[in-house]
Amino acid sequence: WIKTVGGYTVVDVRLSGVRKEYDGVTALEEVSIHVEDGEFFTLVGPSGCGKTTTLRAIAGFEEPTAGTVQFGRRDMTGVPPEDRDVGIVFQNYALFPHMTVAENVGYGLRFRDPPGAMTRDERVESLLELVDLADFGNRKPDELSGGQQQRVALARALAPGPDVLLLDEPMSALDARLRDDLRTQVSRIQSDLGITTIYVTHDQEEALAISDRVAVMHDGRIEQIGRPEDVYRRPESRFVAEFVGENNVFSGETVAHETRGSLVTVGDHEFRIEGTTDEHLTFCVRPEALRLGTGENTFLATVEATEFLGEAFRVHLDWDGRPVTLRVPEAPKKERVRVGFDADDAHVVEGGTPELVE
Ligand code: ATP
Repeated sequence: WIKTVGGYTVVDVRLSGVRKEYDGVTALEEVSIHVEDGEFFTLVGPSGCGKTTTLRAIAGFEEPTAGTVQFGRRDMTGVPPEDRDVGIVFQNYALFPHMTVAENVGYGLRFRDPPGAMTRDERVESLLELVDLADFGNRKPDELSGGQQQRVALARALAPGPDVLLLDEPMSALDARLRDDLRTQVSRIQSDLGITTIYVTHDQEEALAISDRVAVMHDGRIEQIGRPEDVYRRPESRFVAEFVGENNVFSGETVAHETRGSLVTVGDHEFRIEGTTDEHLTFCVRPEALRLGTGENTFLATVEATEFLGEAFRVHLDWDGRPVTLRVPEAPKKERVRVGFDADDAHVVEGGTPELVE
């Protein structure tokens, strides 16, 4: 694909101390990110945390109030969007309804010649092939499914051979099945082309599934940057622990330090967890790390509700007024159950020494 589609150069994207204010509203406090060349990098976070503003600053639709955006060594301050060599796909397909699919893709070439030695028609054809729509060139957008329309939008964004691909919630208008299919296709296309890609989503599951690295955003700041498995397994803050995947978060006090770990209390219960903890601490245990009946640490809780998920049951418990969720292969048979977890399944997010806790 790189040969036939061609024309992409790889650049890295660096945001240094980017701040954005709109008449008294601070959308971005301080955002510093280094997206490596060829990387699939995702900005994830709840509504209003600043994902779109960050993407718009990279695209050039917004000038930062402070800080810089660089593509490779080039400082993009003052460079308008059309001179930045970015391809953009938005949430709503934004295809031209009166144009055919091929004309829509060709529209991406209105400002520049196709990269390589291709004619426009060859370029359009190769892009339609890339997004698996080779036979759809003569259709109108309203004759396509939502997922197909987004693939046309992707082909149009890629047509001029941009340096950077920016995707803002491109799947959020699609139903779950189409979203899954498109996710797989976008991921394949991105890795075939090796184009530096920055993706925005509020869906943490999608972010984990599709990205080389993710940046979790909260209130205009970056909370954590890392590979999906690191962000999931080693959240660095309570916010990340609760936003990325399901989690049980407990606050407690340290009562003693032992050779390998600490004794902590949560309410009246004493647990042993790994690492050296401070007087006050917050730790989390994933629902899949909790077990029925066994574990180094156990407590008694009351079953409130059980949901069948297909591969497991999700059980909602009440533990002396604290909500607890676990995922188990079999539904509990009693109303009062003993729940257990091992010392190394507890991950300290506040009041710990992360390198020791791991
Ligand atoms: P969503 O997932 O809902 O799109 P987001 O994470 O993309 O949210 P942004 O759209 O970047 O968040 O918005 C960040 C903050 O900046 C919000 O509080 C928003 O209200 C504010 N904001 C964004 N654009 C403007 C604007 N043009 N004028 C004033 N405030 C703005």
